[in-house]
Amino acid sequence: MTIQVIPVKGLPLIRKGDDLPALVCERIAFRDGDILVLASTIYSKSKGFTRNLSEITPSERAERIARRDREDPRFVQSVFDEAKDVLLEHPFILSELPFGHIGVRSGVDRSNIEDGMVILLPPDPMGGAREIRDQVQTITGKDVGVIITDTCGRAFRRGQTGNAIGWSGLPAIRDYRHDTDLFGHELLITEEAGVDEIAGFANFVMGESHQGIPAAVFRGCGRWTGHDDLYFRPSEDVVRKALCNRPEGGAGG
Ligand code: GDP
Ligand code: MN
Ligand code: MN
Repeated sequence: MTIQVIPVKGLPLIRKGDDLPALVCERIAFRDGDILVLASTIYSKSKGFTRNLSEITPSERAERIARRDREDPRFVQSVFDEAKDVLLEHPFILSELPFGHIGVRSGVDRSNIEDGMVILLPPDPMGGAREIRDQVQTITGKDVGVIITDTCGRAFRRGQTGNAIGWSGLPAIRDYRHDTDLFGHELLITEEAGVDEIAGFANFVMGESHQGIPAAVFRGCGRWTGHDDLYFRPSEDVVRKALCNRPEGGAGG
């Protein structure tokens, strides 16, 4: 299997109201089965999921954490405003968003937008991916999978990687359970997070700073079967349980 990864070059600085599917389709001749990967940052900018810090009034809690971290309290408030649940306040804010993602500082970004503005993660990235997939189909007639990514930290290892936060047209998990290995052993627990693996390499192609490549197309990944149950339920999530049950406390510690 040969997989081609095609960066989408020449996209402008994205603003609210920009038609992302149209802008991408002007630059890429899609084929059936392609997977379009978009950085959440441009999806959010196109939909106006951004905030102006000057319009945010920080709470006392945000002021306190901002003093500790030498941060702008309005930025800290924007992080709290996105969180459904705050898992950790110290040594950094780790929070769960309403759509299920757990991320450092609720995934709020100050990079790749004008001073004084922040970029939020989209509130419904699954719906966003579905909408983009439908629009690409309307424009090109091609059946294209879509993944919306964000750069995320991870447990146990240094270094950020791309994670899928929304996807459409492909299952998140490639389910290997009940498949057999080279020696005929039945695999009992292997579920591969296909969308995150693609998101990770897409993030590598996009870069993090001034590269100006917020999208990439994967060609030749093939199809797989599985399911979309990517997020652990709280009862299954041993890391979350351990964090929240520490003696020094999770949030508020
Ligand atoms: P995130 O991982 O979704 O938070 O996005 P990043 O801020 O890391 O940006 C990913 C890539 O997209 C980098 O190459 C940025 O330079 C690029 N990028 C971000 N915003 C824009 C934009 O509005 N237009 C273009 N052309 N590139 C952008
Ligand atoms: Mn980000
Ligand atoms: Mn990034």
